[in-house]
Amino acid sequence: MQGENRRMATLDSKLVGVLGDRTTKVLRDLFGYVTVGDLLHHYPRRYLVRGELSNISELNEGDEVTILAEVFSATSRRLHARKGNILEVIVTDGSAKLSLTFFNQAWREKDLKVGKQGLFAGKVGVFNGKRQLAHPDYELIPDGNDVDAAVEGFAGKYLPMYPASSKMPSWKIAQCIELAIGSLDEVPDYLPESVREKHGYPTLHQALVQLHNPVDLDSAEKARQRLTFDEAFMLQLLLLTRRKELKNLDAVARPPITGGLLDAFDALLPFQLTAGQRAVAEEIASDVAQPHPMHRLLQGEVGSGKTVVALRAMLSVIDNGGQAALLAPTEVLAAQHLRTMQKLLGPLAQGGMLGGSDIATQVTLITGSQNAASRKEALALAASGAAGIVIGTHALLGETVAFKDLGLIVVDEQHRFGVEQRDALKSKATYPPHLLVMTATPIPRTVAMTVFGDLDVSTLRELPLGRQPITTHVVPVLEKPGFLERAWERIKEEVSQGHQAYIVAPRIAAGTSEDSDMDFLMGETSTEIVSVEELGPLLSGGALQGVKVAPLHGRQSAELKDSTMQAFANKEIDVLISTTVIEVGVDVPNATVMVIMDADRFGVSQLHQLRGRVGRGTSPGLCLLVTNAEPESSARERLDAVAGTLDGFELSRIDLEQRREGDVLGASQSGSRSHLRLLRVLRDESMIEEARIDATTIIESDTSQYPLLAAELAQIQADAAAEYIDKA
Ligand code: ADP
Ligand code: MG
Repeated sequence: MQGENRRMATLDSKLVGVLGDRTTKVLRDLFGYVTVGDLLHHYPRRYLVRGELSNISELNEGDEVTILAEVFSATSRRLHARKGNILEVIVTDGSAKLSLTFFNQAWREKDLKVGKQGLFAGKVGVFNGKRQLAHPDYELIPDGNDVDAAVEGFAGKYLPMYPASSKMPSWKIAQCIELAIGSLDEVPDYLPESVREKHGYPTLHQALVQLHNPVDLDSAEKARQRLTFDEAFMLQLLLLTRRKELKNLDAVARPPITGGLLDAFDALLPFQLTAGQRAVAEEIASDVAQPHPMHRLLQGEVGSGKTVVALRAMLSVIDNGGQAALLAPTEVLAAQHLRTMQKLLGPLAQGGMLGGSDIATQVTLITGSQNAASRKEALALAASGAAGIVIGTHALLGETVAFKDLGLIVVDEQHRFGVEQRDALKSKATYPPHLLVMTATPIPRTVAMTVFGDLDVSTLRELPLGRQPITTHVVPVLEKPGFLERAWERIKEEVSQGHQAYIVAPRIAAGTSEDSDMDFLMGETSTEIVSVEELGPLLSGGALQGVKVAPLHGRQSAELKDSTMQAFANKEIDVLISTTVIEVGVDVPNATVMVIMDADRFGVSQLHQLRGRVGRGTSPGLCLLVTNAEPESSARERLDAVAGTLDGFELSRIDLEQRREGDVLGASQSGSRSHLRLLRVLRDESMIEEARIDATTIIESDTSQYPLLAAELAQIQADAAAEYIDKA
């Protein structure tokens, strides 16, 4: 009777009503958990299975195992190349020894004393020829307890192993969860019955109970699938709702106008648009002709001709009396966009000037580093509407920047801008403006669906006709030291034929890093990394004697960067020695060779972006990836992958597979990240596709049928908003 009465807790009940004050406080301090629901969403990583212990001597790589063993030794040491420490624990079960490793968890040394016995579970890996478990889960047997009794004494057959800490070990979490489940009333299910039944999923209540206390591994797996699906489904619902809301906003329709700037531009264009460009241009044109804002992502390989497509959309808006803003991630790129657009537009960009045509407009630039006079002029052009196109960096978001009638925002290389920045620019328009986001990093469909799920997606797959192929080779310095000399000779050959080259290095100066992005990929064996400042004198005094070289990097002043880029574009410089500042968008068709030093320091997509700088003219491109990485290392495998294909989609997949989930989803999804515990965008592709379909059906139906679902969604939206406010 009493037991029945106590089953009254809901997922929203405070933990303090279920657990002791002290435990409640520890859970809150450690994990931020306040409610029963918070705790029940702390999922086990794996289960120890009673009666299925393995002998260490019989372990094979890749096995998921549980062993009963004794701690033989434990040593921790600091890592050199990156921050942190590694704890290595050797255990033995009498048959053999096994190494357990923990990264940055030195506190476990207190637990894992020599002579301690326990159950250890994990996946068998091999490192330096030795079998090991990396970050295993374990359950130690309290001193003085009989081992057999302890092993037999599991509450159930499957002992859940939780992400834990020294203050809150896994067994303690299991106890808390058992108490929480014991006090739980039937949990109402927000997932529509039709969706649940379609997939054969358990109810929410069943799933939570089965995940923490499964009758068998199969039902644990079903529970996990149900809860993973929930994440995908709620996320899609959130994104589709946002998209629907955006679609319902009022915007100014900017339909095609005959005899305007766009027509004049098309007549001037020295090349024919590719079929892909035409198709995408039509999608965009029909979007901006609607009285609702466009929200479109345009993805396409480096050099696929996105800029021309975007420019045409801008001209269409100008033909309708509006203005367009182009947001670029760096000053180098913003300045280049200005030059490109002025060149493409020719007389059409000379509005208000003597000799300019009367439909002509003006293109202006706003950046953080420009002098007061040119800034004042640019601000005036934007505010009066005389400039139909306003290009800029973050400076465009500044308070002093105003438009007469901002109708279209184009964001170049989106992955560097957050939603907040887009919104800052949108607020400068009288009506919600149309938005076109361009990215050269192709992303797999489900990632697009997840990260940019509130945008429509257009893709440019082909490169313009006549684009030259790029050949890529790995230059392994350890095995073939002579190849590096050969690389410099290749540069000299190209230069002697009137071509130009890039040399890219990971660092500006010795001991610095311009690109912390990739730090997580760096192994422990950090040799000296080549820097731009060292390389310049070294080469111009040696292998590249007589060749005009110049450095370019992020610590130079904006004027210097810009004048260097212009000099390079004007062939006054033969070889540019640079950091990744040239990664995105830089367009000098005469450059034919790129040598990337310490190429293993860069990510796969980044290398692909970089090499897209060559082969943009009439001659084929060559890219050489110089590396000190060992043969058959994972770094070498990545480089071989880059050398092996020019397919950006395939490469971005390889890249994403190596990143942590948070990095995949990035800042744009950070608001709902805390709701994504189980979902993995690449692994769970088909589930995301299904969730998208189901979410679409629900959104299109009468949603008032699903009050629980609406409440859950509102909760997630509120949490996302709260997190957003916390961040700001
Ligand atoms: P992206 O921004 O997608 O990297 P760009 O728009 O900068 O590519 O285009 C790369 C180069 O190709 C530019 O010099 C551009 O003028 C040129 N280009 C674009 N479209 C075509 C086309 N249809 N035919 C020939 N050249 C093109
Ligand atoms: Mg571009």
